[in-house]
Amino acid sequence: MIVNEIRAKTILSKSQIYDYALNAYVGCLHNCLYCYAKFMKRFTGHREPWGAFVDAKVNAPELLAAEVARKRKGRVWISGVCDAYQRIEENYRLTRSCLEILVDHGWPVTVQTKSPLVLRDIDILKRAADVEVGFTITTADEKVRRIFEPGAPPITKRVEALATLHAAGISTFVMIAPFLPHADGLVEMLAGKVDHVLIDKYNYHYADWAYRKHGMQDALTGEFFARAGDDLQRAFKRAAVACRKLY
Ligand code: SF4
Repeated sequence: MIVNEIRAKTILSKSQIYDYALNAYVGCLHNCLYCYAKFMKRFTGHREPWGAFVDAKVNAPELLAAEVARKRKGRVWISGVCDAYQRIEENYRLTRSCLEILVDHGWPVTVQTKSPLVLRDIDILKRAADVEVGFTITTADEKVRRIFEPGAPPITKRVEALATLHAAGISTFVMIAPFLPHADGLVEMLAGKVDHVLIDKYNYHYADWAYRKHGMQDALTGEFFARAGDDLQRAFKRAAVACRKLY
């Protein structure tokens, strides 16, 4: 793993999903095969494979403190790309410092991660006026997870973290995207632990080779997304979990 400490020029960027996105890291050790963020290599000049490097914006909290003082208040997505709670956050604590600044200034925050490390910051999350924490969970099958998300935490750890957050009164959601094979088991795993679930197909084709290698190419077809998506949505509704399909 190669870690570079860098100094950024700004930290709150405009987002098409929320008002702002905040990314304290460039690069992501979760190394998902389907990762759409690999395009960032082009802009940062990295020659290492995706998943092997992270740039840590060590001045992120300093920049954020200045930006919240002068920018219009809005919802901040932590993070749009490059998991804010990937393992180097244990040492750098950039996400924690930024979260604390946003919460202390009353800015609404949406955290989205694959990592239970977010539980470390539950003290800040509990005192936030407007915060939600989402986990991306793409399948209920750990074998499938290991193929597509080799560096990311196991599914059970994410579900346990959601249960802890939900029990602490924090709003929680799950994003099933990309919608991978064998996601149906998520209904039972998530009922009672999330406020809502979103499903998206979200395929940028980086991982099509892995579907073929492991005999899962049926899950790339429009027919799969239509049928399995509808089935999953109905199953969540039967379990009294609000669920929306985004395609
Ligand atoms: S967690 Fe997100 S940013 Fe990180 S490798 Fe996976 S898809 Fe890419």
